[in-house]
Amino acid sequence: MTNVLVTGGAGYIGSHACKVLAQAGYTPVTVDNLSTGWRDAVQFGPFEQADLLDREALDRIFGKYSPVAVMHFAALSDVAESARDPGRYWRVNVGGSLNLAEAAVAAECRHFVFSSTCATYGDQDGVLLDEETEQRPINAYGASKRAVEAMLQNFETVYGLKSVIFRYFNVAGASPDGDVGEHHRPETHLIPLMLDAIDGKRPALTIFGEDYETPDGTCIRDYVHVMDLVDAHLKGLEWLRDERGSRVFNLGTGSGFSVKQVVEHSAGVTNREVPIDKGPRRAGDAVALVSGSRRAGTELGWTPERSTLDRMIGDAWRWHQSGSYEK
Ligand code: UDP
Repeated sequence: MTNVLVTGGAGYIGSHACKVLAQAGYTPVTVDNLSTGWRDAVQFGPFEQADLLDREALDRIFGKYSPVAVMHFAALSDVAESARDPGRYWRVNVGGSLNLAEAAVAAECRHFVFSSTCATYGDQDGVLLDEETEQRPINAYGASKRAVEAMLQNFETVYGLKSVIFRYFNVAGASPDGDVGEHHRPETHLIPLMLDAIDGKRPALTIFGEDYETPDGTCIRDYVHVMDLVDAHLKGLEWLRDERGSRVFNLGTGSGFSVKQVVEHSAGVTNREVPIDKGPRRAGDAVALVSGSRRAGTELGWTPERSTLDRMIGDAWRWHQSGSYEK
């Protein structure tokens, strides 16, 4: 049995990763403290409830499963919260990752796949971002992820820990099978909040700022289907297994959509109106985050074939309507 330790396996992206790992013949071992994850999202392998700040628990879990690799999804990821409470982001995201990397090294598990973010680039005047773009995070979320990237570089030099670092753009959609999907508590992300508003579960979607320097005044993001994203992780695992060394990859499509464009698409896909409120800018938001890299395509052979807005919103809407996320 080939075990892969999946931190955050009870969360949105982690649960989808467990699904594709299991389909590919791996045993995904979920490590999650359930602070934001869901026990019933763990469907594809064993579950260990543990906090990444608990080093003893991590050592025990590495000892029990002898994983060949770690996929590290567990993190706090609310940009606005990180702008208000940076200490929490440094403690959980950086402290937790440090413990995990040290436990991996101690257990001689030398392959590490890390969820980083386009938020490490910060605001770059709308330029397309590639892996060589200077990282200038403008919030503690991005800063904490950049710090972990630097830590992983040090750990490779000194301990030989090889890492694939994925800088995600905006992840959306759900498994088309309806078994797992997006469910945050509290929800802060654009598409699920909008589907709630469409469905009458919230009075309206608040658009955070219409005075940005973009064609329609709203922020621009590059959206990636969660199933495409987790496919890249499988390829990252193979990359490490084939001893191709540490590497950073952007995971985005290269196409940017404004908040208003996402709203229009959602109205079209669901055939419903989107009730809208206008709000002020949200602290910590960059104007535009769009990938300009083909590296994941040329080197990993990754194609984000499901990442059209219609498909992401359609899959999210099906998941939303199934009611599973309300459990
Ligand atoms: N957004 C918005 N209203 C909301 C939630 C998000 O206008 O209720 C905007 C947000 O300002 C950003 C974009 O939608 O420009 C995507 O935000 P999200 O929180 O989904 O992802 P992030 O880019 O912060 O990772």
